[in-house]
Amino acid sequence: VLDLCQRHEAQRVIKGKSMVTEETGLNDFLERGGLTVTETDLGEYIIQQAGETPSHIVGPALHKSPDEIRELFLDKHALGDRDLSATEDMVAEARTVLRDRFLGGQVGIIGANALIAENGYSMLVTNEGNGDLCANLPSVLIVCTTIDRVLPRMEDAGALLRLLVRSATGQPQTCYTSFYSGPRREGETDGPLETHFVLLDNGRTDILAGEYREMLECMRCGACLTHCPIYAAVGGHAYGWVYQGPMGSVLTPLLTSLEASAALPNACTTCGRCAEVCPADIPLPDMLRDLRNEENLTGLTATRWRLGLKLHSLLARLPSLYRFATGIGIGLLHLMGKRRGYIARVPGAAGWSRQRDFPAPQASTFMRQYRAGRHGDE
Ligand code: SF4
Repeated sequence: VLDLCQRHEAQRVIKGKSMVTEETGLNDFLERGGLTVTETDLGEYIIQQAGETPSHIVGPALHKSPDEIRELFLDKHALGDRDLSATEDMVAEARTVLRDRFLGGQVGIIGANALIAENGYSMLVTNEGNGDLCANLPSVLIVCTTIDRVLPRMEDAGALLRLLVRSATGQPQTCYTSFYSGPRREGETDGPLETHFVLLDNGRTDILAGEYREMLECMRCGACLTHCPIYAAVGGHAYGWVYQGPMGSVLTPLLTSLEASAALPNACTTCGRCAEVCPADIPLPDMLRDLRNEENLTGLTATRWRLGLKLHSLLARLPSLYRFATGIGIGLLHLMGKRRGYIARVPGAAGWSRQRDFPAPQASTFMRQYRAGRHGDE
């Protein structure tokens, strides 16, 4: 991409939203090469100004409040005293600032929601129309996407659109759905003079050959993030890379390494909401469990966790022993926390209880209480 820009002596690049370029750190690379890169998706523009990374694959600036964005614009845009109290004012200001960048852009970089093999089109959905301006105003267009975005036929793109848009934003259709057919043809008055495609693999061929291949059917709608209770509690930045939520907890270990992201598959309650809302029917909780199992088998799990799991597995196969052991355990925890109503330091879980108190349990296990309620025998 840098070579292409340099070959055209370009200084200014305008960009549409592209997770692939986040994945590869393209902006930093181009800027180190002396180029000025402007993100033109409003959410991406906001976090670029703030020097932050996306917290959601569909709404990159979801973590920003209107007040924070107002402060940011007042600080970054040298436009003098002005009233930005209404959201519309902030949007109008971003629009004005970006308009000049669009007109001055020499190379446009966009992503693709699909590449259609039968006619060579690339498809892009946006709600702001910024993708079309990036694609059509500069003389050079570069489409960056991954090999798993290739669809055989045009009708497949229609099916993808129906699933993607509803799951991503709840709209029946995005405001802009564009199909780009390549450079400007003879007699046409607009469009780029050159179109280039960058198709990234980055480990996807290996994923295709393995047992997690269904993950490549992910269309990046973000529904699994939006419905995940862990994502809602910790936010997108806690996932440490460009993909967040359940899809990120599966994809990040596959694209980087399980060693480097061993915590992610464990950041899941296995509630199953993600699988329920996923339009591609990807069995995310099963995959997360499989990754945990891999961690366990390859010795990535801490020894005390492995021993704990072994003990649990032994007890789970011997119900009487399980009931006996949990009865004793719950009784002891009850005694420890009875006076204050909580336990400040749980034996064997000091790290967990360093940040929070553990509520003292009732003196009896659920099963004993259930039996007592049902049969009145305890
Ligand atoms: S895993 Fe499913 S729900 Fe999550 S982003 Fe991908 S397609 Fe959407």
